[in-house]
Amino acid sequence: MSSETPETVPIDEAAIAAALDRHHHADSGRIREALAKARQMNGLEADDVAVLTTVSDPELLGEVFAAAAEVKKDIYGRRLVIFAPLYISNLCGNECSYCAFRARNAEVKRRALTQAEIAREARILIDQGHKRVLLVAGESYPREGFPYVLKSIDTVYGVTHDKGEVRRINVNVAPLTFEEFRELKARKIGTYQLFQETYHRATYARVHLAGKKKDYDWRITAMDRAMAAGIDDVGIGVLFGLFDWRFELLALMQHIRSLESRFGVGPHTISVPRLEPATGSEMASHPPHPVSDIDFRRIVAILRLAVPYTGIIMSTREAAHIRRETFALGVSQISAGSRTNPGGYAEDEREDASQFCLGDHRPLDEVIRDVATLGYIPSFCTACYRLGRTGRDFMDLAKPGAIKAHCDPNALATFVEYLLDYGSAETRAVGDRCVDQILATMEPGPGKLASSMVEQVRAGRRDVYC
Ligand code: SAM
Ligand code: SF4
Repeated sequence: MSSETPETVPIDEAAIAAALDRHHHADSGRIREALAKARQMNGLEADDVAVLTTVSDPELLGEVFAAAAEVKKDIYGRRLVIFAPLYISNLCGNECSYCAFRARNAEVKRRALTQAEIAREARILIDQGHKRVLLVAGESYPREGFPYVLKSIDTVYGVTHDKGEVRRINVNVAPLTFEEFRELKARKIGTYQLFQETYHRATYARVHLAGKKKDYDWRITAMDRAMAAGIDDVGIGVLFGLFDWRFELLALMQHIRSLESRFGVGPHTISVPRLEPATGSEMASHPPHPVSDIDFRRIVAILRLAVPYTGIIMSTREAAHIRRETFALGVSQISAGSRTNPGGYAEDEREDASQFCLGDHRPLDEVIRDVATLGYIPSFCTACYRLGRTGRDFMDLAKPGAIKAHCDPNALATFVEYLLDYGSAETRAVGDRCVDQILATMEPGPGKLASSMVEQVRAGRRDVYC
């Protein structure tokens, strides 16, 4: 694949407006037609997505949620992948009106962690039981520049403590050049994540006031550079609240189709952050297009139906009750026990250094217990990317349903590993019950594999995966 990447990803705003207008008054027959199509789990076209965004009748909305729950259950079963963000720096040269890290915000204390501090944060996360970390930074690095990020990745992968280590680092940093993406790829990262924030050009210009991030095209083409550089798994997203969520969903679909047509595969994940209050940001407390809780659930459900094999990530921006409600609708990954201030795990949460306010403050153990009580399997699995099941190879396995035979056993083995090494007595009791119940209801093939892997972990082996 060459280093040539397009100058932009054309988002056809007129076509989006026309589709939303055309289906504004979709009748129940058309809505059910879209749902029937969605249940076949081959994804949806823009027109179907537009139809689903218009549903407001409570009964029909109930049908949308039920269809999403069915698709989620069929593809992801009861697994929920768990990760934690690791903020290495809040230095930033941009002026994003919604973010506490924006350059001119004097209310935030600036800090870039040293490698020793990063190692300390990693060790704390390892001691909590985390295996998957999302490395995050503002768009400006200490004097050494971008190599600071590369060094930080090496540092985190280099930390081991007792029985633990970080097995997969995903990265959410500003758009990179093709060459920089190559260096990132060489560090063996999992997913490269970047949110367009808003696909609506005029809104984008209004909220990004200064710095490199003003360049919409440089940002929207980042995934093309990343994938051309060999990063198979990319994660896209929208910061909901900046513009009409219906528009954003249709624009996301256009971005996905563009990646699919260039690389044969779309994004590995979609993130659905909602704007949260942030120190020194008026806009963060008063979103221009607020997304209500019910709309948030609609967004998750529609995405689940539109791109059934793409992971949906929900962060601790959301409060515990919202998180519980959206698991069933399609969320497949959640962060837990998070801090968004650099050094936050060693020194606790500080509003005057955090990126935004958290909705869910519970420690990892409590989240795990809650998730298991609800009947989900918290998964720390990192098998796919370590076995090269990434990008198109992953989708080729996922679409005919073959990946499921690996996922449940891997989820159970990593969950049991967590329970034995890090779980509190209370969580272990809930977790063991959950594991036994799930093993008892699994199909014979994966059930036998899962039982054997769980037995191996209980006998003292670690990092058991298939
Ligand atoms: N600085 C890089 C960038 O902007 O892409 C990467 C890290 S940035 C800290 C990660 C994401 O945080 C942004 O893409 C944005 O969507 C999100 N964010 C910023 N301010 C937020 C807020 N007030 N509430 C929720 N999410 C926010
Ligand atoms: Fe900087 Fe990213 Fe925050 Fe914008 S969103 S101010 S680029 S950290």
